[in-house]
Amino acid sequence: AVVVAGAFGAIGEVIGDLQRASGATERLIELLRTEPEIAAPAQPVALPEPPVGAVRFESVAFRYPARPDAPALEGFDLAVEPGETVALVGPSGAGKSTVFQLLLRFYDPQAGRILFDGVDLREADPQALRQRIGLVPQDAVIFSADAWENIRYGRPGASDDEVREAAEAAGCTEFLDALPQGFATFLGERGVRLSGGQRQRLAIARAILRDPAVLLLDEATSALDSESERMVQGALDRLSRGRSTLVIAHRLATVQRAHRIVVLDRGGVVASGTHESLMAEPEGLYRRLATLQFDQADRFAGNHLSPALP
Ligand code: ADP
Ligand code: MG
Repeated sequence: AVVVAGAFGAIGEVIGDLQRASGATERLIELLRTEPEIAAPAQPVALPEPPVGAVRFESVAFRYPARPDAPALEGFDLAVEPGETVALVGPSGAGKSTVFQLLLRFYDPQAGRILFDGVDLREADPQALRQRIGLVPQDAVIFSADAWENIRYGRPGASDDEVREAAEAAGCTEFLDALPQGFATFLGERGVRLSGGQRQRLAIARAILRDPAVLLLDEATSALDSESERMVQGALDRLSRGRSTLVIAHRLATVQRAHRIVVLDRGGVVASGTHESLMAEPEGLYRRLATLQFDQADRFAGNHLSPALP
């Protein structure tokens, strides 16, 4: 199930731009074919321009086509206000990634509705919707193309200067300039392989270039080296500031920075609040998760070392 979720996260970046993803591997294209068809409305309702960045899930119930017996979300409510950062936490299988899948409209809910800037997703043009959303997945897809093209994918048509600026802000320039042909170096399966932390920074550069109204971050569960961790954290902070952000959080530092934490379990919201208020509930799921998960994730990431260390 972990592999499936990861693969779908990757597809999120690709779908809608398939014709541009000339370097996409056969495996990806094959996976894309398994994506269910979502109907675009004949007369779409225009999303506000400029975008507001307001997201609302109202009593949403959803089951995946492959699992009609198992609700992934049920009675799910969530509102993200413009500029707000909301951290989603919960055990594996709680429905966190499904929230992203539905917001990107890869599926429609069977009950309830989802609004983006006040417009029901089913009434909006899916292309226009996805243009307003930036996704930084756990494991970003790197295309078989050079770094220019890989970053420019965030906003086709961006100038070289804009690509470079985004790369700089995402902490990519140092490692990209160090490659044999710099930004012109071929990446991906037949080129230079990037580390997990580098791939994530590249995904952040794409998102910076895109400048979306709503940002979706799926934090890496696996440890990044502490240098990458610091760069990624800094870049994400700058990217999410003043922008509506939904983050699937695996790190204590991330939930502490969020305006609000929403705890999911079995497809529904079981608690919400700040780290402090949720920790104050002695029997709460959050407290249990926080002591196990965050502690472990932070240890792997090397954050148990004094933050004052260089
Ligand atoms: P989380 O991200 O919190 O770990 P998910 O949203 O990935 O949880 O999954 C919620 C539920 O939906 C789980 O029971 C999971 O097994 C199921 N699920 C997730 N993706 C799919 C899929 N593509 N097809 C069928 N079931 C899925
Ligand atoms: Mg998930």
